Amino acid sequence: MSYFTQLLEGGYEAVHLLSDSRTGLRAIVGMHNTRLGPGLGGTRALATYTSEEEAVADALRLARGMTYKAALAGLPHGGGKAVIMLPRGNFDRAKLFESFGRAVESLGGRYITTEDSGTSTDDMEHVRKHTKNVVGLKERSGDPSPVTAYGVARAMEATAKHVFGRPDLKGLRVTVLGVGHVGMYLVKELHERGAKVWVSDINAQSVAHAVKEYGATAVDADTLHRMEADVYAPCALGGAINDATLPLLKVKAVCGAANNQLLTMRHGEQLASRGILYVPDYAANAGGLINVAQEWAGYDREKAYARAANIFDTIDTVLRRAKESGLRPEQVADRMVEEKLAA
Ligand code: NAD
Repeated sequence: MSYFTQLLEGGYEAVHLLSDSRTGLRAIVGMHNTRLGPGLGGTRALATYTSEEEAVADALRLARGMTYKAALAGLPHGGGKAVIMLPRGNFDRAKLFESFGRAVESLGGRYITTEDSGTSTDDMEHVRKHTKNVVGLKERSGDPSPVTAYGVARAMEATAKHVFGRPDLKGLRVTVLGVGHVGMYLVKELHERGAKVWVSDINAQSVAHAVKEYGATAVDADTLHRMEADVYAPCALGGAINDATLPLLKVKAVCGAANNQLLTMRHGEQLASRGILYVPDYAANAGGLINVAQEWAGYDREKAYARAANIFDTIDTVLRRAKESGLRPEQVADRMVEEKLAA
């Protein structure tokens, strides 16, 4: 599909191809919808893109996701996302990210960047040498994972209100796949709220930490998927709800931190037809974006947490409207965003 066809069909504003022959920079910035404010979204840097088309498609898909996440969270930001096709072999990483900083600056503030898969706070220190349009900086809002996890816990409380009739997690049986940055903080939040937690991760050390510090029970992934529990929280990679895992699930709801939990839309339909409530991932995991948006506005940790606490109300509204309309929660969330953008 031609780039213009992709842009027009997906409602995109622009795709920027930014390069620097001195550093080997090949960066793509996808801009989806900036009606609510400048695009805010991380930079993904990978050496594994097999073509420019694949990298552009990734930037566009991710930028669109940011429009939805920011709008539903009530943030004054639109959807933008960057992808860097890292050079293969040796390259000067500091210089590459410095030139990326100049590229971001050249967009005149329409796009604000931050970390994503494959980029770190160290990379952003190089970016900031040439642009102010960068957040997630070391000495400012820092690691977004605790706020993300807090937001997911709030989303789970709203889920509990709708599924079990009361908005608290005491005694709730929760399975968590992936106890990395967000998953571990989520286990802590759940432990503090009196939930019973089972965890699985390919990293044995992380599992041991969750068991020792937060009283979680360790299980392998297959057992975790087959367990009778109340809520399943995917907190590892995308596509956790797929043809292999979906038929095994014996939970009442899915509510986790991972992005793109449903491998396809069809998996959302199948969850619903099995009576499993799906909490839209981008609604539940907006805490990290809320945190960096707060950095842009002037960082205040309390304000960031207060805003992340509102994820409860967002999910409450989404689930109520889903019940009233017969639509699935992910359809309702998308509609709420589209109404906001059209207004
Ligand atoms: P992370 O890399 O720190 O953690 C991921 C964990 O999943 C790791 O411990 C890893 O070992 C584990 N894992 C990977 N594959 C697995 C498998 N097959 N089975 C079991 N465990 C597996 O990443 P993170 O920052 O915690 O992010 C987790 C998810 O949440 C991602 O999808 C990310 O996009 C999303 N997310 C993160 C944030 C944030 O603030 N960090 C915000 C929004 C969304």
